[in-house]
Parts: sequence; structure tokens; C-alpha cells
Amino acid sequence: MSDSTRHPDSCIFCRILEGKEEGTFVYRNSKASAFLDIHPLFEGHTLVIPNDHFVDISDVSEDTLAEVMKVAQIVSNLMIKNLHAEGINIMHSTGRPAGQTILHFHVHVLPRRTGDDTEFQRWWFSRSHRASRQELSSMVAKLLP
Ligand SMILES: [Zn+2]
Repeated sequence: MSDSTRHPDSCIFCRILEGKEEGTFVYRNSKASAFLDIHPLFEGHTLVIPNDHFVDISDVSEDTLAEVMKVAQIVSNLMIKNLHAEGINIMHSTGRPAGQTILHFHVHVLPRRTGDDTEFQRWWFSRSHRASRQELSSMVAKLLP
């Protein structure tokens, strides 16, 4: 979507990484960091971000993406072990129509527990439908012209 640029002063996540804004860190290494979301959707909701500024899924480099997902796995295991999470959702938004509000690539790691929000599943199934084989085939033809 756009080239990665470094703008630590205008990006809240870059400012958190540089210690200019408060962040409650769960994990940090040389390539990626994890800190608690200030608006937790579920108890323990954590964001994992690259330490370099990338905008979105198209912008982030392949090795950085792999590192972010490695850290998401580490955080998930911490949630399962120490928060007794029974399940994990990993979510990402690219672009404003998808709900991206901070233009620094990030994934949400959401610890889930039985009965914590049945609306989530209800929403998913109310929005989706069972696709026909023909529908799936024509979609593949669009994706891979
Ligand atoms: Zn940034």
C-alpha cells in the first residue's frame, strides 16, 4: 500500500517503543515488541508490533512479519500458561475499511475463555454463508487471474 517510512514523532507506537509514551510491555526483542492494549477487548489483550515502522500487511517485510508472528506465539503461550486462557484469537486490520486506526503494523492477541463473548461467534456466523463450489471456483479465478 505504501512504502515504509520512519516517523517516530507522529506515530504513537513508535513513541511507545522509544519510551516517549507509556507502554506496558509484555515482551521485547531486537525486532518486535508486545505491550498491553490500552482498550482491552478481553482481559490480557496484547498488541505485537515490529520495532521498525511498517504501515500494514503489504508494507511489512517478510522477515519482520515472521518475527511478529513468533512473538505472537510467545505471548499466546504466556496467556495460556499464566492467564489460563482457554483459546486465542490473533487479529489484524489493514486499511481503514478493515478498522485499522494506527498506521503502524500490529496484530492483536486476544486471550479467550469459555463463555467470554458468545456474540463474537454469533456475529461471525451471521455475516458468513456456506459458499457453493462454483462461488469458490470463480473467486479463485478472480484472485489468480
Ligand atoms: Zn510507528
